Amino acid sequence: MLIVSGIPVSSGVAIGKAYILAHALNEVEPYTITEKNISNEIKRFNQAIKQLKSELLALKKELKKNKMGEYGSFIDVQLAIINDPKISKNPLELIKKSKQNAEWALKVQMEEIINKFNSIENNYIRERKNDIYQVCETLIKYLIGHESKQLSSDKNRIIVAHDISPADALKFKNSNNIAFVTDIGGTTSHTAILAKSINIPSVVGTQNAKNLISNGDNLIVDGDHGCVIINPTNEVINEYKLKQNLYELESKKLLSLQKLTSKTIDKVSVNLYVNIEDTNNIEPVIENNTKGVGLFRTEFIFMDKHRMLDENEQFTIYRNLTKALPNKTITIRTLDSGGDKVIEHMPNTNQNPALGLRAIRFCLAEPDVFITQIKALLRASYYGDIRILIPMLSSDNELRQVKLLIDRAKDILTSERKKFNSKTLIGGMIEVPAAAIDAESFASQLDFLSIGTNDLIQYTLAVDRTDDAVSHLYDSSHPALLKLIKGVIDAGTKAGIEVSLCGEMAGDPKLTKLLIGLGLKNFSMHPSSLLKVKKVILESEFSKLKSKAKKILNTHDKIEIENLINTLNN
Ligand code: PEP
Ligand code: MG
Repeated sequence: MLIVSGIPVSSGVAIGKAYILAHALNEVEPYTITEKNISNEIKRFNQAIKQLKSELLALKKELKKNKMGEYGSFIDVQLAIINDPKISKNPLELIKKSKQNAEWALKVQMEEIINKFNSIENNYIRERKNDIYQVCETLIKYLIGHESKQLSSDKNRIIVAHDISPADALKFKNSNNIAFVTDIGGTTSHTAILAKSINIPSVVGTQNAKNLISNGDNLIVDGDHGCVIINPTNEVINEYKLKQNLYELESKKLLSLQKLTSKTIDKVSVNLYVNIEDTNNIEPVIENNTKGVGLFRTEFIFMDKHRMLDENEQFTIYRNLTKALPNKTITIRTLDSGGDKVIEHMPNTNQNPALGLRAIRFCLAEPDVFITQIKALLRASYYGDIRILIPMLSSDNELRQVKLLIDRAKDILTSERKKFNSKTLIGGMIEVPAAAIDAESFASQLDFLSIGTNDLIQYTLAVDRTDDAVSHLYDSSHPALLKLIKGVIDAGTKAGIEVSLCGEMAGDPKLTKLLIGLGLKNFSMHPSSLLKVKKVILESEFSKLKSKAKKILNTHDKIEIENLINTLNN
């Protein structure tokens, strides 16, 4: 038995078998085959192709059966790659000609294709290389005899990887996968956020879990304490089964709070909203008596489809949300690509993605993409309470450009005689320190503000949110951050507009009382945190929290702040 620790990012306990995502490509060695063995090598290659095809088709069927058919587009792309003669036929020629093994022939062929892709200017084409890597990597895994895992049928699979991209995390949104463990990654990386949204226990930043764990090892993942137990003894398994039961019991107990209105003991209303990444799991918005969706991260619908959706396709998605969530406010954020969210056909800055052409910067550089999305949103908001949220604003000038483009979208819709709501509310994410410092100006020009603490912490403290090496510096109770949050809340209150907080901090029950004390009245979070936070709200007394929060705001020592937060919670 061995214990590895990391950063807990999605709570709960999972007990299952390790499924390693290996880098098979590194293991390929060339070797010469005899003339007699050529046909055998060709047979091995064709078998690998056949196996991958049938596994992908089975997975596609299963996704459909589990009403997750929309994730099938990943599979279609991979099937198209396998069917391309450059992948399925050219390596055969190479085997015959060079008399080398099949996996080496495939690797040589793959590298040739990828080199060609690298020289193509078009980003969409260039980024397709990730799909090619993935297909070839899987084929090579089969060829070099990595355990052939049935993608579709293994149950209780715990995905162990050096890293999992947000796009991969979407792919593993399958009921067979019960936990994620990665060597790298930070608390609020988008992969971590997706794990939370899929609601499976996850631990990131373990440094070397992948080297210590072998395929098929028994694992326990404790997503609350950030530890992974490798090949636990029976006693430990039993202990964790008990923990699992307690966790489930606790979750069931919280269900009694679902219908209650979220307000403090002294009757101060605190609205709860839900963060969503797709339109599938929206039941919690209704079940938990929330005010609606506080953040819909639309980039994930594009990431999932591997392409930009046209106006009508987007309109249908947003319109369907209004049908599914009548009488709820639906806050839809415009495309926030870039940073750790790479959308294959969108440009991404390589030098420093977090500081590059992200979010609204990208949309202002590609006004057609932005206008298409705004048109779809304005049309859908004719049918329900949709409001538009602009990510990563950092200056007045940007906001002015945004407004001009929104006006242009309205003009186009008018000339096209399409119905739309001209009074759709426009809000801004405050997630760059410049915007937080200048919050009064943003508050006076926008209809609502939403504090994105995931990025606000990253940019205020200069700590990459995805890098485990600096995760100890990623501090959600840093005095500078608390002052910025307070300033934004006050600016919104002064301007008479709603201020919500939609970063991961909103879903951390340890910080709920502090945020209420700072004056926050709107929290948006993943469904899994809703009831835990609601419980704290119901037990809070706003009048008492205010002065205590003020004291914390004037404290600078980390330990002292932690102690004060603990006292606030007890
Ligand atoms: C944030 O930055 O806090 C936020 C909610 O946006 P995202 O996590 O998608 O960057
Ligand atoms: Mg953000």
